[in-house]
Order: sequence, then C-alpha cells, then structure tokens
Amino acid sequence: MFSAARRTALTGAGSLPRPTTSVFSSRFSPSAYQRLLSSLAILEQREGKLNHGSLSAVTAATKIGGSIHGFVAGSNIKPVAEEAAKVEGVEKIIAVDNAAYDKGLAENYAPLLVENIKKGGYTHIIAGHTAFGKSLLPRVAALLDSQQISDITAIESENTFVRPIYAGNAIATVESSDAIKVITIRGTAFAAAEATGGSAAVEDGVDPKIEPTSEWISENLATSDRPDLATAGKVVSGGRGLKSKEEFDRVMLPLADSLGAAVGASRAAVDSGYADNSLQVGQTGKVVAPQLYMAVGISGAIQHLAGMKDSKVIAAINKDADAPIFQVADVGLVGDLFDKVPELTEKLKSA
Ligand SMILES: Cc1cc2nc3c(=O)[nH]c(=O)nc-3n(C[C@H](O)[C@H](O)[C@H](O)COP(=O)(O)OP(=O)(O)OC[C@H]3O[C@@H](n4cnc5c(N)ncnc54)[C@H](O)[C@@H]3O)c2cc1C
Repeated sequence: MFSAARRTALTGAGSLPRPTTSVFSSRFSPSAYQRLLSSLAILEQREGKLNHGSLSAVTAATKIGGSIHGFVAGSNIKPVAEEAAKVEGVEKIIAVDNAAYDKGLAENYAPLLVENIKKGGYTHIIAGHTAFGKSLLPRVAALLDSQQISDITAIESENTFVRPIYAGNAIATVESSDAIKVITIRGTAFAAAEATGGSAAVEDGVDPKIEPTSEWISENLATSDRPDLATAGKVVSGGRGLKSKEEFDRVMLPLADSLGAAVGASRAAVDSGYADNSLQVGQTGKVVAPQLYMAVGISGAIQHLAGMKDSKVIAAINKDADAPIFQVADVGLVGDLFDKVPELTEKLKSA
C-alpha cells in the first residue's frame, strides 16, 4: 500500500516523562535544492473566520524552507483569504469559494486539495494535527500515494521529522523519500505564525466540483466564555477525584475563573460525565502546552501526561503523595482538593 521507503529511529524516553531527544543529527543545510522546496499550508476557517491556531502550519513550512503558499476553502472565502494573505512568510494564498467545503468534510475536501497540490507542484503539504487535519491528510496522502507523517514536533530537514509515539514515551525520527510529504504538526510544538506583516497574493484555486460523497447534517457544540483549551495560557484540569459533575463544576469552575484559565479534564472525569468530551486532555484528547497546567484530583496516568507534559509549569493537587502526577509536577500540594482548591480560589480572588 505504501510506496515510499521510510526509515524510523527510536529514542526511548526511559523513566523520564518529558523526552526531548532525537537520534539523527541534522544533515540539513541550505542548498540549491532548497529553492525547489515549496510548501502548502492548509489553513482552517470556521464561519468565515481564520483559525489562528492553524497558522502553526506556516511556521513549520518556514522551518522546511522554500516558498510557502496557504490554502483556504469555503463559502464567501474572500475575506478569509485576505486575512490569510497578511500572515507573515506566506507568498500566495490559494482560495476556493464554494459552500461545499464550509465544514471541511474530508471526503469532499481531499479531492479538492489533491487537485490544487498537483497544480502547484508542492513538495510539502502541512496541516495541524487537529480533528480536521487528522481526518483530511491521510486521505490526501492515499490519493497521492504518499505515506502520511503524523503529529510531528520537530523538523530536522526537508525529509526528516521527529514525532512522539507510544503516548510520548518514545521519540521516533522518521525519514521519508516520498516526492510529496504529507504532514500533520503538533500545534504546541510550532508557534502560530504572525497574523500580520505579510502581503501575499490571493489566487483562485482549482475546484474539481466533485459529487459530494458525504453531507453535513448538524453539529452540537459545547460553548463556553472561558479561554479555548487548545490555545489557553493557563489550564486547570479536574480528574476522577472530583467525584461528581456537581462537585467538578462547584470546585473547578471558580478556580478557572479566578485564574482566567481554560478548563480541562482527565478521561476518567469525562467518562464519568463530570466534564464535556471536548475538555479531555491526553493521548485520546487534546494536547496542550500552556504556561500553567494545574492538575486537580488527577493521578497522572501516562495517557494523561501525553497531553500536558510539555506545559511550562505543572502544578498538582492530590491527596496521595505517591501519585505519579507529582513526578512531573514543578509544584505539588498534597491534600484534600475539596479543602485546598476553594481555599486557593479565595486567595487568588483576593490577591
Ligand atoms: C488507550 C487509552 C487512551 C487513554 N487516553 C486518555 C486521555 O487522553 N486522557 C486521560 O486523562 N486518560 C486517558 N486514558 C485513561 C488513563 O489511563 C487513566 O485511566 C485516566 O487518566 C485516569 O484519570 P484520573 O487521573 O482522573 O483518575 P484516577 O487515576 O482514578 O485518579 C484520581 C486521583 O484523584 C486523587 N484524589 C481522589 N480524591 C481526592 C481528593 N479528595 N483530593 C485530592 N485528590 C484526590 C487520587 O489520589 C487519584 O490520584 C487512556 C487510557 C487508554 C487505555
């Protein structure tokens, strides 16, 4: 099924929960070849608004080198394309105006993207490792007969990439010989490109107008006035220790508001109905790397750590002094969360 030769080297993370090493030294140096490189950064939009988180794809493209184009599609796409044209480092925005691409349904979007990739002759296709990117790019890779390279955290050269595997317990350095590299990037590893400072040209893309194979019926989104979990600078997460949804809301929400933080949760808390699915942090939830991550009543299972261990400062409150979360925490408080969190919240409010 896969045509490309691919080498993978692993670095075990040992008992350290924050692996940072990779195995290949960089062989990458700017050369004449670099001028032939060209990346297409897939930019996400929702209801006519550019998703600034998706600008991380531009940053990754900058690290690869060569020219960078951005791609947007949907109805009334012009304002989004014009906003994207201001992103620093982008030379051209390819825009396709068609309501069929509004919701980014991968089955419809993949053929669209492939047509535009073929026309542009790109060497690298880059999207965020988001629900959209994870659904879309494997289809694109299959249609291009390339091997998808997922969730990378570093770029060693134009064909060598670093990605965590086994819930972040090992780091793989993968080398691809595919002519077109199809890559999703971990948003926390690449800062979003500057939204201003650029002056890219906007060009109409090719629209294959294929007969849609899937149709958008409806969506049921959890809305909140609190910061977005994926991009927040501070996150407070609650676990099974909260005991119930009522207690989760009573204890965690005032803490979040006193810090101006987003709310997250462990999978156990989500599965028990204490918090919405969209708030899950971890291997099968969101990966976050805020300035401050506070884990409350969370034991620190590896699958949870996979989603938050790159946070700058990790604080933990747990009544069990041996809980694994304390092995990654920069600051720990051993105690009953039902006493400690309201006390902390009051102090933060009066500070
Ligand atoms: C394939 C797979 C994928 C997974 N993906 C994820 C994922 O994405 N995210 C995730 O979180 N998990 C994930 N898990 C589940 C993971 O293994 C753990 O089961 C889960 O993280 C445990 O959640 P928890 O820490 O809230 O609960 P527990 O492990 O039950 O820990 C509860 C903690 O609360 C503490 N506590 C209890 N009462 C109090 C109190 N009054 N005061 C203070 N502390 C208290 C306890 O000491 C304990 O440490 C995954 C598992 C698998 C197999």
